[in-house]
Amino acid sequence: MSLDAVLARIDETLPDALDRLFGLLRIPSISTDPAFGGDCARAADWLVADLRDLGFEAAARPTAGHPMVVAHGGEGGPHLLFYGHYDVQPVDPLNLWHRDPFDPVIEDTAKGKVIRARGASDDKGQLMTFIEACRAWKAVHGTLPCRLTMLLEGEEESGSPSLVPFLKGNAGELSADLALICDTGLFDSARPAITTMLRGLAKVELTLRAASRDLHSGMYGGLARNPIHVLTRILGRLHDDEGRVQVPGFYDDVDELPEAIRAQWQSLAFDHQSFLGDVGLSLPAGEAGRTPLEMIWSRPTAEVNGIWGGYTGAGFKTVLPAEAHAKVSFRLVSRQDPDKVLTAFRGWIEAQLPGDCELIWTEPEGSPASVMEIANPAFEAARIALGDEWGRPAAFVGAGGSIPIAGYFKSILGMDAMLVGFGKDDDQIHSPNEKYDLASFHHGIRSWARILDRIAS
Ligand SMILES: [Zn+2]
Repeated sequence: MSLDAVLARIDETLPDALDRLFGLLRIPSISTDPAFGGDCARAADWLVADLRDLGFEAAARPTAGHPMVVAHGGEGGPHLLFYGHYDVQPVDPLNLWHRDPFDPVIEDTAKGKVIRARGASDDKGQLMTFIEACRAWKAVHGTLPCRLTMLLEGEEESGSPSLVPFLKGNAGELSADLALICDTGLFDSARPAITTMLRGLAKVELTLRAASRDLHSGMYGGLARNPIHVLTRILGRLHDDEGRVQVPGFYDDVDELPEAIRAQWQSLAFDHQSFLGDVGLSLPAGEAGRTPLEMIWSRPTAEVNGIWGGYTGAGFKTVLPAEAHAKVSFRLVSRQDPDKVLTAFRGWIEAQLPGDCELIWTEPEGSPASVMEIANPAFEAARIALGDEWGRPAAFVGAGGSIPIAGYFKSILGMDAMLVGFGKDDDQIHSPNEKYDLASFHHGIRSWARILDRIAS
């Protein structure tokens, strides 16, 4: 009954919620450009004032970069930490925008009404869905739904340099039972999703050195070693004919997908033809015997991201180069350890090197995958709540890319994160003419109200 009242309140006050969002969108909080430092501080202050209005104890806390908004409110029930970010991407190239990126407007499009502005989707529109749900809840119940901590970052679009030190420095204050992150998307235009698996990353730049200097192929060719040949031969063996990575032990810590998740993914009827078709491809190129969704969400990869050496300028130079270079990265899943993978990769290369070649290993780094503990009943509760709102069952999905914050919540604060978002692939985040569907904003607010109703009360 009271959930109905909260939902009705959300519907009635949607114009006010939009006004507030527009106020935040008008602040050009571009975190990467120092010229907008004052605007980032202004956006943080705007959120602090809004959260205080809602009864939170809120402050913009200084960091080495832009401030971190932290707020505490409510009591009882589970302690939830909500994360979003108030900074946005630069707007260049400005001439490709159809209007001022910081003058938000509702536009009618062929696919329905959209909110058009930088940050409309990523992430101001998304973070406000949660704040507006709290506001409607407070208006109906007189209190917030449970004990809530808000963490709103101002450097997400510029590499989050202050995030780890801030989490470490305030771990006691920020640790909660569960983190909620609203910075992801729907599975497709009508099916909600909860991201529960994020792949990790390991990367390294490597150089093979052969001769002590570049050589003339007329004089040395045929006798001297060409490191480009050595490097390409080794990297050519990185996968076997079935697409399996050949580094020893690579799959040791890779878990098979739980049956329940496999069944859910099957029901998603992912259209890999159009996914690949959009980028001019047609044939899945991953591991034999794996579905396309497994390939991008739950299987590890090895990719040569760049390879260079020798003469690549205009004309021709018949050189035997002294060095060959490559950048190689791995997407990691399950319990794969970045250091262990890179060490095994290095050993695998060295075992194949001729005696007069040297391997130079530069800047290895990585972060493990995040796999959420979906046995936590909050995940199933949220899945049902999302299904109620969108009229289609929500799915637990994976994400091929890394979302470092979820990993930090686990490794630094010891809590799982539930990633629920309402963005769409065509939101043009990071590009000109960013938009957020008005329906995403409205259903997003209602979704959080339903989720909070199920897990907090
Ligand atoms: Zn974002």
